[in-house]
Amino acid sequence: FVPTQRLPQWLRRDLPKGNFNNFTAGLLEELKLETVCDNAKCPNRMECYSQKTATFMILGNVCTRPCGFCAVSRGKPEALELDEPDRVAEAAYRLGLKHVVITSVTRDDLPDGGAEHFYETVLAVRAKTQATIEVLTPDFIKNKAGLDRVVEAAPEVFNHNMETVPRLYRRVRGPKSDYNWTLELLKRVQELNPSIKTKSGLMLGLSETRDELLQCLADLRTFGCDFLTLGQYLQPGQRYLPVVRYVPPEEFEELGEIALKMGFEKVASGPFVRSSYHAREMTQ
Ligand code: SF4
Ligand code: SF4
Repeated sequence: FVPTQRLPQWLRRDLPKGNFNNFTAGLLEELKLETVCDNAKCPNRMECYSQKTATFMILGNVCTRPCGFCAVSRGKPEALELDEPDRVAEAAYRLGLKHVVITSVTRDDLPDGGAEHFYETVLAVRAKTQATIEVLTPDFIKNKAGLDRVVEAAPEVFNHNMETVPRLYRRVRGPKSDYNWTLELLKRVQELNPSIKTKSGLMLGLSETRDELLQCLADLRTFGCDFLTLGQYLQPGQRYLPVVRYVPPEEFEELGEIALKMGFEKVASGPFVRSSYHAREMTQ
């Protein structure tokens, strides 16, 4: 995030516990794998890598969407690497992961949006490990067949992020985004396979109002979303959307309690929460 910003006290971090940072980074390099931790400049990277966790980012490291908050590179993606599913499985095995989170860039250039590759990756991880599996997918907008294919792989958790309230959707998630489709997607996953837990998350601090946020959470519940994450948006560089407000930890806590009362089964709400932060805890 932008280092010149004056961060409130609660966003300054202690050095992480655990000493596997180099091990994790080395393994990812050896297996030529991308992570969203690196590509999105996640503020928790040191902590997660030190504890031998990471979120794999498949389908390359170049995205076809222009989200105003995200540090992942944009442009014309490279060809798919067909051995990537096996390399992800190998990394998950060697890291000893009990819960594997697989995400990707959006690949509007591929006829199936990359769905088959997601499917193959879930199956490869399942064949090589005993881990529970969570996918954090793009929206597969106008590509229900692609979405259905990922559901067929039957991950334990299907995560698709809401990111923000509808008023800010186009600005934050780009012109192709569609709030209603995000809700429909989560509902469709549950209809196709009710044993899969659905999950979504929002970043706070982008100028959403409390009423807008609560309406959004109510919509997620109406469409049957099980798990929720709420975290602080941090600007990853000067050319990205600015932070409008730093939400204090007490407010995150209060919002988390409200969300639980609304019926979410599991909620993680705090300044450093990201959709994959301590993801395994939600499945326990
Ligand atoms: Fe990676 Fe998620 Fe941890 Fe961030 S919170 S470093 S994206 S595993
Ligand atoms: Fe980043 Fe995902 Fe948006 Fe691509 S679609 S820019 S990876 S948030």
